[in-house]
Amino acid sequence: MSDDNLDEYDDDDEGSFDLGLRVEDFIRFLKVYAANSPCPSCGENHFATLSSEGGCYVFKNECRAADGAYLVTPTYAVGCTNCGYLRHHVARVVQDKVAELALQDPGEKGNERN
Ligand SMILES: [Zn+2]
Repeated sequence: MSDDNLDEYDDDDEGSFDLGLRVEDFIRFLKVYAANSPCPSCGENHFATLSSEGGCYVFKNECRAADGAYLVTPTYAVGCTNCGYLRHHVARVVQDKVAELALQDPGEKGNERN
């Protein structure tokens, strides 16, 4: 587990961090890292990503730290289709894990040629 501070994302760095994420990659991430996480509100396990054909929606959660620093933490979200409970995953962590999964299963990219 990384000890990176998940909140330390400077909005000025936005250009160096591609926030785009394909829905299928987010679903792949969720199947590996959140498959056994039923909705904490209703207990059901039926979720839908918040996304469109262009990819996952990016939420920019703004906050001000105790030292006055302005921080933005981009996230992707899934919602429970039964009760509407929303769950967010930090975009940088999702993207890192998606990249790791792609390295473990490089065959997926080969399928794009078909
Ligand atoms: Zn629910």
